[in-house]
Amino acid sequence: MKKETLLYSVTPFDPAGHRLKVCLTINNPDPGGQALSMPAWIPGSYLIRDFSRQIETLHASSQGQAVAVAKTDSHSWLCAPCAGPLKLEYTVYAWDLSVRGAHVDETHAFFNGSCVFLSVTGQTQTPCHVEICPPPHTKNWKVYTSLPEATGHKRAARRHGYGMYIAPDYDALIDHPVEMGRPQVVQFTVHGAEHEMVFTGVIPKLDLERIAADTAKICATQIELFEPQSRRAPFLDSSIRYVFMTMVTGDGYGGLEHRASTALVTSRGDLPTRGQAKAPEGYQNFLGLVSHEYFHTWNVKRIKPAVFAPYDLSRATHTELLWVFEGFTSYYDDLILLRSGVIGESDYLRTLGKVIGNVRRGTGRLKQSVAESSFDAWTRYYKQDENSPNALVSYYTKGSLIALGLDIVVRQATGGARSLDDVMRLMWQRYGRDFYQGSGTGIAEDAMPGLILEATGVDTSEFIQRYAYGCEDVPLDELLSQQGITLNWKAASATPTLDARLRTIHGETQIATVHEGGCAHAAGLSAGDILLAINGLKVSDSASVDRLLGVYRPADSIDVHVFRRDELRAFRVKLAAPDAHECVLERTASDTNAVPT
Ligand SMILES: [Zn+2]
Repeated sequence: MKKETLLYSVTPFDPAGHRLKVCLTINNPDPGGQALSMPAWIPGSYLIRDFSRQIETLHASSQGQAVAVAKTDSHSWLCAPCAGPLKLEYTVYAWDLSVRGAHVDETHAFFNGSCVFLSVTGQTQTPCHVEICPPPHTKNWKVYTSLPEATGHKRAARRHGYGMYIAPDYDALIDHPVEMGRPQVVQFTVHGAEHEMVFTGVIPKLDLERIAADTAKICATQIELFEPQSRRAPFLDSSIRYVFMTMVTGDGYGGLEHRASTALVTSRGDLPTRGQAKAPEGYQNFLGLVSHEYFHTWNVKRIKPAVFAPYDLSRATHTELLWVFEGFTSYYDDLILLRSGVIGESDYLRTLGKVIGNVRRGTGRLKQSVAESSFDAWTRYYKQDENSPNALVSYYTKGSLIALGLDIVVRQATGGARSLDDVMRLMWQRYGRDFYQGSGTGIAEDAMPGLILEATGVDTSEFIQRYAYGCEDVPLDELLSQQGITLNWKAASATPTLDARLRTIHGETQIATVHEGGCAHAAGLSAGDILLAINGLKVSDSASVDRLLGVYRPADSIDVHVFRRDELRAFRVKLAAPDAHECVLERTASDTNAVPT
């Protein structure tokens, strides 16, 4: 009997109108009526997005006859029973230039399967064929994806070509985004595994060779960390290549991980160009992003929280462990830049100092633990507002400091014989390496102290209780000093500030966030207030606020005039000395078990 498959095709049929057409053929639909659904969220981005809302038209038919189809909830449909194969045809609006979405115009098409492919209820384990078809009137686009090309099929795609691709099941189908167009591309091989970097957008003189050389070092260091003997790249269970897909914009930053690829957005100014003696300052951020998403190939795409194995894409799925999956990944992203030689120790310590300062700045860290922040990612971290710095802690940044703390504690306790690397390798061997071949289980919510103990012999349960499940600051001054690194705090400037975050929009300078406990808070200034004058002198932008405040000293009182709801209001602000929120790290002694190189 012929092996059952689901057949999808996707065509950017209306680039000017930003529309994709999708056809889905189900050879053996449920005789009682076939149910279908769209994901409500995309793995890696913990917010209900209701991708079904971008489906404009949807028709079902069987052997040329229309089949009735009814919506049963926000993202599900039910087709009337039919005798033969069921065919669905629908259009998807694709004008979301984000790593989570789909975006089509005359220059390119990018889509995540989560935005595009209906899931066939009862057949999520059925292998899928997906035919990627060209837009009208454009013949010279190429296709970039980690989806494997079909073999032995008469319409099988060739490398970078249109035609048939395959996925073993629905979970895989939506985990290989696709970019089409004429991007700038560079390839390299690391430990025998192919990698490809694809840059979409106008980037004159992009230095592809430099980026490829640096990225190859990052990839090699990570593969060696997880597989010191075999040096086998993790994605070879799913694809013959790893693809970095980067959309380059004027001002963007972000990424989303997949099992054999990542979608990135970066700023044009952060990328190196040919002939530059020195790469732009933001290039380290880009490489940090590359390192972060690549690390996820192990940590979260294969080593997963148990509740993500498998994903339930119909509703929010809560885990307290994002401080491990995002926090540990954030710790290793910059550390790998250092270990691979892409940056030096002074750059590493400066970056680490910034993270420590960012965590310390918000009072939210005293109210919410990273375990709570992980659990509430769906309603809080992903729905930030003007009060978030006062109410939330980031499981990324504080999670990375917990990882650093654990790494130092383990190194100290074992005289450098064990480290967090051993924990990562144990999790990889037990849960990750065979995830897509084996039973596909994940890490239980309470498993971390036991795993760390098993991997290193060090009991860190109290540490985890205090810093991950409690709100205490990780005692990094003490821990880092044991590593020969001193931690000092200093104020960003000597002059007083309002202790509020400002932003200038359309020539108006507004308060974006009032920091809890600061002088703006004490005076009654609020987020949304439009700053007009400080002691009678006009505010024109954020820099003018600094200038106007520069003549005063802590404990001086000033009048601040603002518009709130179009009403003129005056506030008397007693200035305070600026808080010492800038963290400066310095190596003062060399240490043998040393952080973290
Ligand atoms: Zn991440």
